[in-house]
Amino acid sequence: MISRHPVEIGLARQRREVYLESTRTMLTAAQERPQALVSLTGNGVALASLDAVLGGDPVRWFRLAARACAALFSLARSQGKPLSFPLDGDALVSLSGVPDESVLHAGRWLSGWLCAAAAGEAGALALLSHTPAQLIDASSSQAAAPYVRPLSDALRQLATGGDPSAPLMSALRATDPASLPESNVDYALDIETPFIEVLFAVHDGEAPPFAKALELHHKFYSAPSRKDDPDGFVSRRLSAAAALAAQRGLPAGVESDYLVVAAAPETLICCPYCLVPLPGDAPICAACLNDPRNDAPVETSPQERIARVRPCPKCATPIPDLAVICATCRSRR
Ligand SMILES: [Zn+2]
Ligand SMILES: [Zn+2]
Repeated sequence: MISRHPVEIGLARQRREVYLESTRTMLTAAQERPQALVSLTGNGVALASLDAVLGGDPVRWFRLAARACAALFSLARSQGKPLSFPLDGDALVSLSGVPDESVLHAGRWLSGWLCAAAAGEAGALALLSHTPAQLIDASSSQAAAPYVRPLSDALRQLATGGDPSAPLMSALRATDPASLPESNVDYALDIETPFIEVLFAVHDGEAPPFAKALELHHKFYSAPSRKDDPDGFVSRRLSAAAALAAQRGLPAGVESDYLVVAAAPETLICCPYCLVPLPGDAPICAACLNDPRNDAPVETSPQERIARVRPCPKCATPIPDLAVICATCRSRR
């Protein structure tokens, strides 16, 4: 058992109240302004961390962060069409408007992706994994750390059934302390490198080194200057990796307060054209923008959906064999 480092509970309680208040406001605002989805993504991440410490429901907030982030990136390429998403709870909310490109950066994408994987949010995970990399590259806010881009490429491959080995290797090389600013070195060595090693093992079907990675997380966030940073209360990276490992039949082999993992649903109802999982009876598929109610939806499981894939002839993203439209570039077969 790898326990959480000591945290100041009173401070965590105060912060939770602030984030809850903001979340209530932003859930209403999101129906008019896509910019509110940015706050909901950040609030969801913070509330999940705070609830993990305070004994609330961290998975609920991971879900909110994942859905808000997937909605944000989907609206950016919905050609002005409103999209329906569940946010907090199961009811679909109609969202419209075009988010500003400056909020569509790699760090936010990564954050949403990790929450989606950890919370078993298959729809949000697929939407984020099929967000074209060009959309994120075009954002005027760019990630400072050089390993973020190859790491994102690796995560897309992992979630779409492709081979993440080459981008994982690039990400690992980019964590070399010699090529990083001094202020990034500890984070790269204690947080990113162990995460990348775990992902290699998950892909190779070997026992992932979760214990070592969790101990380094504990060490990094035990520092007095970091111990009350909610980012350290839960490891989003290792929680996401544990969820992916579990889907591949690989147990984490260790228990830890830093892991928040929800089982993915066994059955997914997917768009008949692009095979991205659909939330309820949405009138439009947020990935391919078709009306999925015109044909019988495809019922599958998370593993089965990415078991047989082929590269899209136009953009090379791995897409399910049964898909007639690529969820990334929207070209038809
Ligand atoms: Zn679709
Ligand atoms: Zn494509």
